Amino acid sequence: MEPLRIGVLAVQGNFREHAEMLRSLGADAVEVRKPEELDGLDGLVIPGGESTTFTRLMALYGLDEAIRAFAGPVFGTCAGMIVLDRNHLGLVDLAVRRNAFGRQVASFETDLLLPGEETPMRAVFIRAPWIEEVGPGIEVLAEVDGHPVLARDGRFLVTSFHPELTSDGRLHALFLESVREAAVVRA
Ligand code: GLN
Repeated sequence: MEPLRIGVLAVQGNFREHAEMLRSLGADAVEVRKPEELDGLDGLVIPGGESTTFTRLMALYGLDEAIRAFAGPVFGTCAGMIVLDRNHLGLVDLAVRRNAFGRQVASFETDLLLPGEETPMRAVFIRAPWIEEVGPGIEVLAEVDGHPVLARDGRFLVTSFHPELTSDGRLHALFLESVREAAVVRA
């Protein structure tokens, strides 16, 4: 079987860590800086970083339109979740509140139990957003203090935290599973 080709948006932020995690799970990870680099990808990761910078650079390079036109599964983490919400690219039907847990001092780690899993996942939050409003059809998969921090909306998977900064690859594996399913449907 051909490895899945996953793009990692590489204009800014934690793209290297995501690419390494994807490679450790057997995927072919490619850095994306230009719209045409989305062609032929099976899935796309939008990493954490600074969402205002992402928004500016995506508009500058025409990546905003290219990402809107991209039909495959997308995994957005932290700032990557922010740029997908109703108030940015408008691809996922939720509203995200930036820096919701507070600023730098409010960066923290906690254990999250994912649905159907017995071992909790260590989650790293860095000036993290939370999900403030969810539209119908959004599946909330984990919360912290009553605020959704992990959700799925069809082909979109979004997290407030940084799964690329631990050695726990379960969320990336979940994402790759959805990419594989979408690739089978397309074939
Ligand atoms: N606070 C950042 C923002 O609002 C997100 C932080 C992160 O991605 N770690 O864009």
